[in-house]
Amino acid sequence: MGRRLVLIVLACLLLAGGTASSQDAKTANKAKALSSIEKRKPDLIALSDRIWAYAETALREHKSAKALSDYAEQEGMKVERGVAGMPTAFIASYGQGSPVIAILGEFDALPGISQKASPVKEPLEEGAPGHGCGHNIFGTASLGAALAIKDLISEGKLKGTIRFYGTPAEESVYGKTYMVRDGLFKDVDVCLAWHPDSKIQADVDSTQALVDFVVEFRGRTAHAALDPWNGRSAVDGVEAFTHGVNMLREHVKPTVRMHYAIVKGGDVPNVVPDYGKVWCWVRDSKRDGVEKVLERLRQIADGAGKIAGVESKFTIQTACYEILVNMAGARLLHQNLMMLGPIKYTEQEQLFAKAIQKAAGTEQKGLEGEVKPLDLPKPNPPGGSTDVGDVSWVVPTLHLSVTTAPEAIWHAWPVVAAGGMSIGHKGLTYAASTLAATMVDLFEDSSARNAIRAEFTEKTRGFVYKPYIPPGPPPLPR
Ligand SMILES: [Zn+2]
Repeated sequence: MGRRLVLIVLACLLLAGGTASSQDAKTANKAKALSSIEKRKPDLIALSDRIWAYAETALREHKSAKALSDYAEQEGMKVERGVAGMPTAFIASYGQGSPVIAILGEFDALPGISQKASPVKEPLEEGAPGHGCGHNIFGTASLGAALAIKDLISEGKLKGTIRFYGTPAEESVYGKTYMVRDGLFKDVDVCLAWHPDSKIQADVDSTQALVDFVVEFRGRTAHAALDPWNGRSAVDGVEAFTHGVNMLREHVKPTVRMHYAIVKGGDVPNVVPDYGKVWCWVRDSKRDGVEKVLERLRQIADGAGKIAGVESKFTIQTACYEILVNMAGARLLHQNLMMLGPIKYTEQEQLFAKAIQKAAGTEQKGLEGEVKPLDLPKPNPPGGSTDVGDVSWVVPTLHLSVTTAPEAIWHAWPVVAAGGMSIGHKGLTYAASTLAATMVDLFEDSSARNAIRAEFTEKTRGFVYKPYIPPGPPPLPR
């Protein structure tokens, strides 16, 4: 169903209703929320395209954060900037009292994948960053949904507080983890998030818990031929550590992933290196699994230092939990997806998508605009990691995927290309509409909120949130 048709159907339902029942009021508020998004559509698309062009990486998203927070302020929301010690983190809010409904928005880009809105690989600026995860659309669509709710509160049609969380650095230090640790979600009843994707679905699968750490080795330098017996090679420590990691691989659960990069491994062969550094990520589908492997890795780092006769230092940089899925929330999102129906693409858009898939060497099946059925959660789903996980353990969190790019390669040029043209724009308004309609339910229907909260309470019984991040704000890039 097209957006215009949804509005007409909602209006007819309202007119046919006669006396105003609560169902009619809800329908009317949803129609109003959708028309708010329709009204702001040119602004939202321009905002998303600006952030797409800025393409700023983690904690450097100054222009992107300013564009979003300035627009929120201009449209009447109260904005608090620089929260949780991060200059690019902010909260925009409107209304007062309960319920407090929050929505998350990301806006950081990825390094090195600059791309034009073109169906073949063609950098906008060679080597520059690009929005290969669609976060330009993520942040803008979430803000569009928040503003639609703000309109309803300001007209007295909904009661409570709407809050937009501008969350930086999802692609590196996990900005949300700092915001959770600093208690910024304490009074939130329900939180919503979404992510650009190549499908439309209410998400019921969790993500991977992750710990990001570095191991540094410090030895003693010497001439590699004249007096190597006086040296202690830090790179021997690096090699012993990575060898240990690779031996450990055989003895971990199949759900565990360990990846590393040697970021400092000596300079020249004829100098015994006195410094070496490995950057490592360990993941599992559950935080408990990560903790067990992490303990083994600490011992391996310690052992590697002893083998090489050098000092070893193990430092955790950041971490995130797996997402705690909320099925009651997923069902509510799914109902609203069904109300909106599929995204309709033009023939040109399908041809653009197929050209991307051809250039990327993947199946040329075009764009998926249909709403996928609600799945059952898998016990150990594969996939990536996100700091939405941390939010989901302190406040019930609903998560949605919406098509903004064809299925090809993620975190790469095809996502940047589709995210800067009409395919991305359609995903933007569709995500904003679904989220706004779902939030209308959450504001109006206390039984929907209670079901979500009851499931959350049950699943978090005995749970204590434990951030791994070091004290203070994350280090800012120079
Ligand atoms: Zn992402």
